[in-house]
Amino acid sequence: MAKTITILGSTGSIGVQALEVARLRGFDVLALTAHSNTRIIKEQILEFKPKYVAMSDPAAALELKAAISGSGTEVLCGTEGICECAAQKADTVLNGIVGMAGLEPTLSAIEAGNEVALANKETLVAAGALVMKRAAEKKVKILPVDSEHSAIFQVLEGCNSYKEIKRLILTASGGPFFGKTKEELRNVTLEQALNHPNWSMGAKITVDSATMINKGLELIEAVWLFNVRPEQVDILVHRQSIVHSMVEYVDNSVLAQLGVPDMRLPIQYALTYPERTECPAPELDLSLGEALTFVKPDEDTFRGIALCREAISKGGLYPAIANSANEAANLLFREKKIGFLQIAEFVEKALGKIPSKQSYNLEDVLETDRVTRRFVSELTR
Ligand code: NAD
Ligand code: MG
Repeated sequence: MAKTITILGSTGSIGVQALEVARLRGFDVLALTAHSNTRIIKEQILEFKPKYVAMSDPAAALELKAAISGSGTEVLCGTEGICECAAQKADTVLNGIVGMAGLEPTLSAIEAGNEVALANKETLVAAGALVMKRAAEKKVKILPVDSEHSAIFQVLEGCNSYKEIKRLILTASGGPFFGKTKEELRNVTLEQALNHPNWSMGAKITVDSATMINKGLELIEAVWLFNVRPEQVDILVHRQSIVHSMVEYVDNSVLAQLGVPDMRLPIQYALTYPERTECPAPELDLSLGEALTFVKPDEDTFRGIALCREAISKGGLYPAIANSANEAANLLFREKKIGFLQIAEFVEKALGKIPSKQSYNLEDVLETDRVTRRFVSELTR
């Protein structure tokens, strides 16, 4: 399949795996973007020869420009440069940027009429109404990359109408701290939080998986992607990460997608959709006899799920507030400035203090992001 793709966040965990898929499938790479990692992106430029690259960090853009001069690749800079890359005509723009920084590039891709393969869940959490409305107006497909949403998307391929969905069941690995009490979580370290049992991912999402707010963010992501109500999304802890999520239909039939935990599968499906091709993700061997288990999450201990459910139920800018507060608190924890349990505490405080409004535009979301980050940083003073 000949295809031209752009990868935003190409130096990250998702970006590198997306390029592996591009290499195997022989896709043309039109543009690549990253924050500051010039070492990795330089290698990627040499191999994939994109027409454009953008670095959000201006110093990194300057350094890269000097390093690759004469290569034929144009180097752009800042959020504007990334948005410009996202807007170049491509078959698919894969967004593997981490955090709110992915929102404007997602909108730029949609504005340009580019299909979006979305790993950057924060885009939908912060501004789902805006993004989905614009995508519908521009008739642009948003293809999920997050493994749970890819699973649901795959299951729904056989669905007659989304009205036949009774509920979605998102599975969660439970992260490194499954089964721990609040007291036991008080003094857990960053190193312990980064030690995920099943997935190797970037630092921010790995900490989000440890707090389980990742599943709360995914609940909000599912509401927007599949047009369901928050109370139609259930969560089950499934320690083996084999069943990637399920759909229960109105007739009580439950359909699931299974596979080994390997992001190359959902990444490739989003890039080759609606076709399927061989994939480097290993085969699933159920004959090995590993038991598949499902239990309800402990939402009193892992508060992030309930906070996100509350935020999306209230609507408006509340999910954006939860997302920005979490981004800020997650970073403070990674900088070892706050304890593990304070992450959810800060999200809760922000939800109780920062004003929301029911309908919003992009500037409202960006302003709410600034206000929320300021609020969270002041909590540590
Ligand atoms: P990562 O930290 O490994 O990579 C992030 C990428 O974004 C890097 O290329 C980085 O240069 C770029 N970036 C960082 N800050 C930026 C900024 N301010 N402006 C522009 N670019 C910036 O993260 P990841 O684990 O690959 O996750 C990326 C996204 O995919 C996240 O939204 C995450 O929740 C989602 N996701 C990841 C996985 C996974 O397995 N890693 C699974 C599901 C969903
Ligand atoms: Mg996921």
